[in-house]
Amino acid sequence: MYDKRNEIGGNIMTYEEKLQQYKDWIFRRSAYQMALAIIGIDKQTVAPSAGAAYRDERSAYLAGELFSIETDPAMVQLLKELKDDPKIDGDNKRAVELYYKQAMDTMCIPKDEFVAYQKLRDESFDAWIQAKSQSDYSIFEPYLKKIIEVSKKMYSYRNSDKNLYDQMLDDYEPGMTQEKYDAFFMALKERLVPLIQKVTQAKQKNEAFLHQEFPIEDQKKFMTQLLEYLHFDSSWGYQNESEHPFTSWTCENDCRTTTKYVKNDVISAVLSTVHEVGHAYYEHDVDPKYDGMILSEGISSGMHESQSRLCENYLGRTTAFWTYHYPKLQEIFPTQLGNVSFDEFYEAINVAKPSFVRTEADELTYPLHVLVRYEIEKGLFNGTISTEGLNETWNKMYKEYLGVDVPNDKVGILQDVHWSDGSFGYFPTYALGTAFAAQYMHAMRKDLDVDTLLSNNQYDVIMNWLKEHIHKYGFRYEAPELMKMVSGEEFNVNYYLDYLEEKYTKLYNL
Ligand code: ZN
Repeated sequence: MYDKRNEIGGNIMTYEEKLQQYKDWIFRRSAYQMALAIIGIDKQTVAPSAGAAYRDERSAYLAGELFSIETDPAMVQLLKELKDDPKIDGDNKRAVELYYKQAMDTMCIPKDEFVAYQKLRDESFDAWIQAKSQSDYSIFEPYLKKIIEVSKKMYSYRNSDKNLYDQMLDDYEPGMTQEKYDAFFMALKERLVPLIQKVTQAKQKNEAFLHQEFPIEDQKKFMTQLLEYLHFDSSWGYQNESEHPFTSWTCENDCRTTTKYVKNDVISAVLSTVHEVGHAYYEHDVDPKYDGMILSEGISSGMHESQSRLCENYLGRTTAFWTYHYPKLQEIFPTQLGNVSFDEFYEAINVAKPSFVRTEADELTYPLHVLVRYEIEKGLFNGTISTEGLNETWNKMYKEYLGVDVPNDKVGILQDVHWSDGSFGYFPTYALGTAFAAQYMHAMRKDLDVDTLLSNNQYDVIMNWLKEHIHKYGFRYEAPELMKMVSGEEFNVNYYLDYLEEKYTKLYNL
């Protein structure tokens, strides 16, 4: 049969010609992705708010152009043929399969609706910023309602027989479903709720000294030293500030992170930096042969989060890490920390205490913050919870799960950016990734004396282990496959629960 799509200048395309077309397509695609990434970073960091409407319209246009490239029927046909071509090598086969799946999920959406959705996401983000600054959920509610409606419609085009929220979960963590997450969170609840109760009843630690006034200019002095220690080198990375710390990138040698300085919290910017730089390393360390390709991205949201949480908690909250850093912090803040002993400081940064804000939560109560969001998302998409009065639902759940009274929307429902841009199904990966990290850490400790490296200013050796075992593969494997390669066994939540139990039993003399 004659097929015009397989033809160049009247000849049937050879495998090599198809491969060249595919490579040209990847290049075009990555050019648009780069432009959109930079615009996104700019929007969340320095772009003046009055120009938002102008920028949002043009960003939506660019997203539409990228949509056309990604769903070009001739290219989708080419991907389909390459996928089954016996000549294709393993890396490209994997990439083509991923591109093809992505195209199948996207090309069913009418382009004008896709573009309108991108614009809505931008407008919704702008509304969230305003609502959060005024601590007023009612400003954001109409956008949230709309973005949920439109998200549902986008997914309905896929013609999948899977439950809607399951499809969303799968987009962020391939293979995950509500059933699997329910079992995961149940396991966490079973062991963590009694542990949190014991900790709450134990003798409380003093952490008030962490919340004195720490001038931001001085915090920045410490930050310079910290970035050096982390080897977050300006040749490939750059740190900015934003309302909600994040990491973005254009390629392995252009990774941007942000942090947020809090005047009465000396640890917040430090740990958020260690976290975000953890994300940046994941992108920086991917094998350069994947640059511009889908394989250059981390496997999944949970895998990305496993790398950032590993750095933040399993490295950044340890005695070894602070053995190196605490004297330096004391030197910058002699009035505030001069009389605080190392043990007092270490205990204070690891205090477990139910609170309102997820990003500032301790390791022990953290997964409960995620659980609240997971339960709400399930309800929003399964029709049992509505956006109306959702701030009150949120507050009730915080009371029930964490025992705290949320004082306002700013530290309540408006604290996170994710729902403003339609990232539903993303939150649960935060808890899952943290649990992955415990298992990776267990594997790493078999090879490396992590504590000695941390206290000896050899963070790079640890990052190199992660590069060799995890980062360099990018998206070459699925998360369960990589977990087996690295740890020798399937994901096991008990590594995480054992770690928390051991750490907090010791800290609180339980
Ligand atoms: Zn993160």
